[in-house]
Amino acid sequence: MANLVTEIADTASAHPDTTALHYDGQEISYQEFWGQVGQFAAGLQAAGIEPGDRVGIYLPNLPQFVVAFHGTLRAGGIVVPINPQYKTREISHLLGDSRAKVVVTIGDLVPFVSEVQDGTDVEEIVAIGGHDDATAFREFLAAGAPDIVDRDDDDVAVQPYTSGTTGQPKGVLLTHENLHSNAEMAASLVPDGVRTDDKALGVLPLFHIYGMTVVMNATLFSGGAYYPLPSWDAQQAMELLAAEDLTIMHGVPAMYNDVINQPNAEEFDFSSVRLCGVGGSGIPVEVLRRFEELYPTKIYEGYGLTETSPVTHFNSPEKGRRVGSIGKTLPGVDSRVVDADFEEIAPVEEGPVDEDEVDLDEITGELVISGANVMQGYYGLPDANEDAFTHADGKRWFHTGDIGYHDEDGFYYVVDREKHMIVSGGYNIYPREVEELLFEHPDIAEAAVVGIPDERRGETVKAFVVETPDADLTADEVREYCLERLAEYKHPREVAFVDELPRTTTGKVQKFELREADE
Ligand code: ATP
Repeated sequence: MANLVTEIADTASAHPDTTALHYDGQEISYQEFWGQVGQFAAGLQAAGIEPGDRVGIYLPNLPQFVVAFHGTLRAGGIVVPINPQYKTREISHLLGDSRAKVVVTIGDLVPFVSEVQDGTDVEEIVAIGGHDDATAFREFLAAGAPDIVDRDDDDVAVQPYTSGTTGQPKGVLLTHENLHSNAEMAASLVPDGVRTDDKALGVLPLFHIYGMTVVMNATLFSGGAYYPLPSWDAQQAMELLAAEDLTIMHGVPAMYNDVINQPNAEEFDFSSVRLCGVGGSGIPVEVLRRFEELYPTKIYEGYGLTETSPVTHFNSPEKGRRVGSIGKTLPGVDSRVVDADFEEIAPVEEGPVDEDEVDLDEITGELVISGANVMQGYYGLPDANEDAFTHADGKRWFHTGDIGYHDEDGFYYVVDREKHMIVSGGYNIYPREVEELLFEHPDIAEAAVVGIPDERRGETVKAFVVETPDADLTADEVREYCLERLAEYKHPREVAFVDELPRTTTGKVQKFELREADE
């Protein structure tokens, strides 16, 4: 029972004729899907893959990703999901580090793998054809369907990589138990659970933990249908949502912001949608508010990390949500806010606090997590593992690197990532607070704030602003707007107008690029 994929086998036998995947107008039933999973597993075995071997999946969101993912698990292998935007340098690091033996990819990406194949353990590159080739795996699928290979709870199932914003990407060892506990949890967070008539929009990249587990596993484990789209395009996604009466959407904040900033935003039809999930980074309060004003659906915010498989906190509108909070700790997960000596920091009476009114240093600390969802460790990185965990009170606590606080009602608030903090003239400034304010400006579509070197203050605050289409703001106006509403030391002394913000595939602003652009 430990093998995660058993869940899919159970769904397939309970609902053989229900749609599992829907892509480009084609429907794939659970029976067909499970059949392909078997053939893929047989193909892997014929290629010499043994239990515990790693298989790289270097694909955009296509049905074949989902088949290869579950086929690898069925054969007892470890899935190494790879960002399809990666090119030779990144691929070289990932394949070298993970020691994947097989890589499944799409025609256009084959050269990036073959160029670096020498010197890696890759024995076979499986090319699946093109984007329009929704079902083919060409010759790789083998006849027969092997039994699900037994795995222990603590055997590794998936090895995603961190995005590497803090150095080289690290392989995160997630076990069958880690993912199982979290996928079940994710399904239970949906009001009434995920149902067989649920249809989930698949715009989150599948190589990333959020798309992989919350959308794919939580949907497919429960017999819902998954509608992947290979890349994010707000118009295309909204058309699919309305045309197919989709019921669940999960996205990163940048996607929701993109939706509300479309010229025809008021025409989008969300009437079939019963849940909009968001995570990956904090959603600006103003974006949430405007989205909920436009559409008859609520946003459910979750918080988590790749290392925690991923969800640890959830802010459910059904359970007295507090906007601006990441919500409460999930059952089965423990979280604490601790100082540098690992002493717990007491909760405030009620959040969210006005960050201008309180001394944040007194109420905030690092968020640490313990539970069955916490990774086994980073692959082959003993020093990083040493830094990542603290053992206390009989538990193993994972350091998130996020600064936050909590309140007496059990709500948690992420102020920002520790590494984003700006120290200016001795003051600590968290960019997110300034960004939240900028998002409230009617002429600002998007904003990101970073610290840039400053001779006198050490660092100073700089805002990068994307204006709404007809706006004509000046830097002085933006500075004035902030000065009127924030402590003087927090206001952006420098303002740059840009057409767009550099983002990762998962919609996070690449702040290091903004700092480099400044230099
Ligand atoms: P790296 O660790 O290399 O930078 P990454 O940013 O891709 O990689 P993820 O596991 O994708 O790593 O992201 C986890 C981080 O995302 C959390 O530590 C937190 O900073 C942020 N995050 C996720 N959800 C939320 C949320 N609801 N509110 C605020 N921050 C969030």
